Amino acid sequence: MHSDQIYRDTRIIVDLDQIAANMRAIKEMVGDDVSVMAVIKANAYGLGSLAIAPTLMENGACYLAVATLTEAIELRVKYPNYPLFILGHTPDRYLHKVAELNITQTVFSLHQARLLSDISKEIGTRTKIHVKLDTGFHRLGSEPTDDFARDVEEMFGLEGIEVEGIFSHLALAGDEDDAKQYELLTGFINIIENKGFKFKYKHIADSIACVDSPYLRMNMIRPGALIYGMRGFHKGNIDVESAIKFETSISQIHRIKKGEGVGYDFLWRAKRDSVIATLPFGYADGYPRQMRDKGYVIIKGQRAYIVGVLCMDQVVADVTDIKDVAEGDKAIIYGNGKDGSMTIQEASELVGTNKNDIICRLSARPPRVYIGK
Ligand SMILES: *Cc1c(COP(=O)(O)O)cnc(C)c1O
Repeated sequence: MHSDQIYRDTRIIVDLDQIAANMRAIKEMVGDDVSVMAVIKANAYGLGSLAIAPTLMENGACYLAVATLTEAIELRVKYPNYPLFILGHTPDRYLHKVAELNITQTVFSLHQARLLSDISKEIGTRTKIHVKLDTGFHRLGSEPTDDFARDVEEMFGLEGIEVEGIFSHLALAGDEDDAKQYELLTGFINIIENKGFKFKYKHIADSIACVDSPYLRMNMIRPGALIYGMRGFHKGNIDVESAIKFETSISQIHRIKKGEGVGYDFLWRAKRDSVIATLPFGYADGYPRQMRDKGYVIIKGQRAYIVGVLCMDQVVADVTDIKDVAEGDKAIIYGNGKDGSMTIQEASELVGTNKNDIICRLSARPPRVYIGK
């Protein structure tokens, strides 16, 4: 969206230069021997996958990963040549689309491998697949049994498909459990590779694992959160910064008397004569309703706590202690924390969820404004 077509002060500023810097930092951390599959599912966690895809590809990503075929198609229409990967399951009846559009598909059954092989032969193409192994998460993937090893060996022999990779996903239940999952994956890979079949890509690590446990990087990592600058790791470190700023500006200022209520059910009452500011964002923009009594915005460098019940489209903040506050003043809702703003991480702690939930619940309503290259 071009900034002069935006008619709203509540907006999400996405800094493409910061995303580029984060991507380069990830690439630098893992070195040349590890490929980076950049995870941009759920519309790049709400930041806009179409807008940020080129930044990722130009700064070291070798694949763009999405969760669903619909997400992949959206990217394929705009970017005919980017390598795209579907992390999730695609039902049989849609597999022809995967083949037609040259998308790499997660596969965990011989049945789907054969189907993709037949479809691809028919249309004269070769579809890449990565085999998904269930090493304990029990979400998606086949268990590492001898039978499944034979199935995978058979997949290597199918025309029309290329078994390009194999992967699993960590439950992140602790170092010991991570190691067990890793060993199940590598053990299974060894059985197959010892028979002469080779996987080009082997992967298990998401953002947290690739920073905290270098051995889990294998030869490919799948970071999402890190790209957007969310620092969820515990042991390791990497210099990534938040690439988003969620901001708005004051619509109206009210001066109210001690004892007066604010908002639905008057659930907040002024303990003193107060100055309050109405801000044009609410839970329909993806701001958690549970922020009541916890949330704050930064106005003129100072914290202004949200008071009363959060509404769908508006909230009210107590600005009594902010000098010279005026209608039209900017308010930072989420930022990088350096200006005192609430980070995505802090927001997730305040409402008792995780950072990916906070960022991807930002709704379609606030416009995304892209700055940087
Ligand atoms: C979402 C997802 C990722 C990325 O997770 P982050 O925590 O954002 O790094 C990696 N792998 C799979 C299979 C996923 O579903």
